[in-house]
Amino acid sequence: MVSLLLTAPVAFAAPKANLVIIFADDLGYGDLGCYGSPVIRTPNLDRMAAEGLRFTDFYSAAEVCTPSRAALLTGRYPIRSGMCGNRRVLFPNSKGGLPPAEITIAEALKGAGYATAHIGKWHLGIHEGSRPLDQGFDRSFGLPYSNDMDARADLPRGASGSPNPPHDGWNVPLLRDGKIVEQPADQTTLTKRYTEEAVKFIKEQKRRPFFLYFAHTFPHVPMFASPAFKGRSRAGIYGDAVEEIDWSVGQVLETLRKQGIAKNTLVFFTSDNGPWLIMGDQGGSAGLLRDGKGSTWEGGMRVPGIAWMPGRIKPGVTAQLAHTMDLFPTAIGLAGVKPPANVVLDGLNLAPLLFEAMPLPERPFFYYRGDQLFASRLGEWKAHFRTQPGYGQPKLESHEPPLLFHLGRDPSEKRNVSADHPDVLAQIQQAVNAHQSGLVPGAPQLE
Ligand code: MG
Repeated sequence: MVSLLLTAPVAFAAPKANLVIIFADDLGYGDLGCYGSPVIRTPNLDRMAAEGLRFTDFYSAAEVCTPSRAALLTGRYPIRSGMCGNRRVLFPNSKGGLPPAEITIAEALKGAGYATAHIGKWHLGIHEGSRPLDQGFDRSFGLPYSNDMDARADLPRGASGSPNPPHDGWNVPLLRDGKIVEQPADQTTLTKRYTEEAVKFIKEQKRRPFFLYFAHTFPHVPMFASPAFKGRSRAGIYGDAVEEIDWSVGQVLETLRKQGIAKNTLVFFTSDNGPWLIMGDQGGSAGLLRDGKGSTWEGGMRVPGIAWMPGRIKPGVTAQLAHTMDLFPTAIGLAGVKPPANVVLDGLNLAPLLFEAMPLPERPFFYYRGDQLFASRLGEWKAHFRTQPGYGQPKLESHEPPLLFHLGRDPSEKRNVSADHPDVLAQIQQAVNAHQSGLVPGAPQLE
């Protein structure tokens, strides 16, 4: 009996780590102090970056909202779930949504005993099977879709991009566990109320590991901020909204510290896509990256990415390529859960990079616009097969040979060097062929 005990496999597995994902909406690569913004003050995110790992080359998996969120929660390119297409995102009159068969991070972790909460924007469907409580979340508090949807019929054109948008201009409801608690939602206090909800959820988790998916409504237009933040930023109401999100991040991290669980909680901060540049002063900045939301230029999909877990993650900056689809494998790794059977996952567990500063294997990244592959990156090289500006009256151009940029020497994608590097183009083409050869697109959900 004694020897049995001595030779038995270790039964004392490390405690399952908690996971908090904080997801901003339309926040650009250049909109935080720690990413070079000279005008928006983000002391809490700057501190999070200084204490954690800041990614220079972190990507959202899509150029707009709905597909980006689907990819983050499923760990899969949106084309696999059908959550992308010509209409670009879900609208209140859309019939589709995240298919029930898709497995979200929440579902995977719930199976391992995690408490799960969604706070903030959803935008993955309003019909049965696609809503937060149908997709693995124990509770949910937030908006079912974007804050500029369901506009009042007499709303003047351009109101959503106004520096002073009308309070009651959009009839979007605030839902708790699927039930309307306020309509229209009072958007001026949304960030504050989301934050109170997040702090409360974290404090309530005493015995169980937890997963909090905190998806902010801002800085997506129309732009609102609480009275405590309105009029405070040099960057106008856009800066006010980002500075309030920064405050919110500070509240979440401080709660984790005070509860004594910071060392056992991975917090990841990122954005769903680049800045919505056609909104002018309310559109944010991609810094030195080209274009913004809606495009497959770097500004559309490369976003801030900050990982924090004090004592576990060594502070630093990494140029390793990583993306939101890595968060699913990373999450199940933290929980000690096996990957779901018969599901193609497109990401990697980031644990070796986060906790041991080991480089990730080189892998290609694919930039989709809707359900079309527009570009691909391999190492420092990025090839564009097609290009199209994010918004406005976008002219689609096909490129043969593809445009080729070196993202190290030319991060703004200004100097096409494809004529000099046919070998690189051939390598990227090979990666694209391998990606597409076994790909089974999901039934389109956005049409
Ligand atoms: Mg967005």
